Amino acid sequence: MEFETEPSRLAAACTAARVEGRSVGLILTMGALHEGHLSLVRRARNETDFVATTIFVNPLQFGPKEDLSRYPRRLNEDAALLHQAGADFLLAPEASSMYPAASVTHVTVAQLTENLCGPHRPGHFEGVATVVTKFFGLAGACKAYFGQKDYQQLKVIEALARDLFLPIEVVGVPTVRDADGLALSSRNQYLSHADRAAALSIPHALQAAARAWAHGEHNTSVLERLVRQSLSPTITRVDYVQAVDAQTLAPVDDVQAPVVLAVAAWVGSTRLIDNVQLAAAMASPP
Ligand code: AMP
Repeated sequence: MEFETEPSRLAAACTAARVEGRSVGLILTMGALHEGHLSLVRRARNETDFVATTIFVNPLQFGPKEDLSRYPRRLNEDAALLHQAGADFLLAPEASSMYPAASVTHVTVAQLTENLCGPHRPGHFEGVATVVTKFFGLAGACKAYFGQKDYQQLKVIEALARDLFLPIEVVGVPTVRDADGLALSSRNQYLSHADRAAALSIPHALQAAARAWAHGEHNTSVLERLVRQSLSPTITRVDYVQAVDAQTLAPVDDVQAPVVLAVAAWVGSTRLIDNVQLAAAMASPP
């Protein structure tokens, strides 16, 4: 696997692959890799010929009080995992090369960022959309793989690729979970033993709502209340429990078209998100 720190090397490697007639798969991460990230790499390995990855803890998507400084960084271990999973290329750039002093362009995606995490993390999606657009610009035509755990992020990225006519096919990949049901996240390592037990109530609560939905409960207020009531009492700060249309992310009252039921909650000082898609819930509850 080739390892580079200069952004232009990503462009050169992807262009060279395409000149040889090879398709390009792209996986963007912030590192501290786990099986969720590696599932994206393996999927790309199966579907494309040249698998390019990035590790970049993007300062633009962290608020001033968020965990940028404590976000786990372990580049060597991550590079070995990417290599084992079949990646051909890794770019791990410095912030100064992604955002040179002259850089003045930000990308904003409207509407899709108005609820769920949007109001709770001002500037977050602009930071995500900006860095993803930069990486898309470098990579050029490719299939880009993103996790459904970050469902709102996935929809924002689909929208920006479509709206800016980028030659990118955005692919959503199902959430990978630990055996107990907790969605894998780089932030899980912040959790103490007791925190982890409380965190587990998040997928369990979503599972309870998915079961209620499968048994015919289609009123989203009822489903949202069921989730809140099923969360551990030690979770005292819940940013939202919300059922939204799976495409527009607008709140819905009744589950008719596919709906995503999403949660963001704080376990101690760690903010966790998770969701369940009610259209697919019967086939694969969390
Ligand atoms: P991050 O490093 O948290 O920015 O995540 C990089 C990519 O991995 C994003 O597309 C995430 O949605 C995806 N991802 C993170 N956790 C999981 C998971 N548990 N299952 C599947 N994909 C994930």
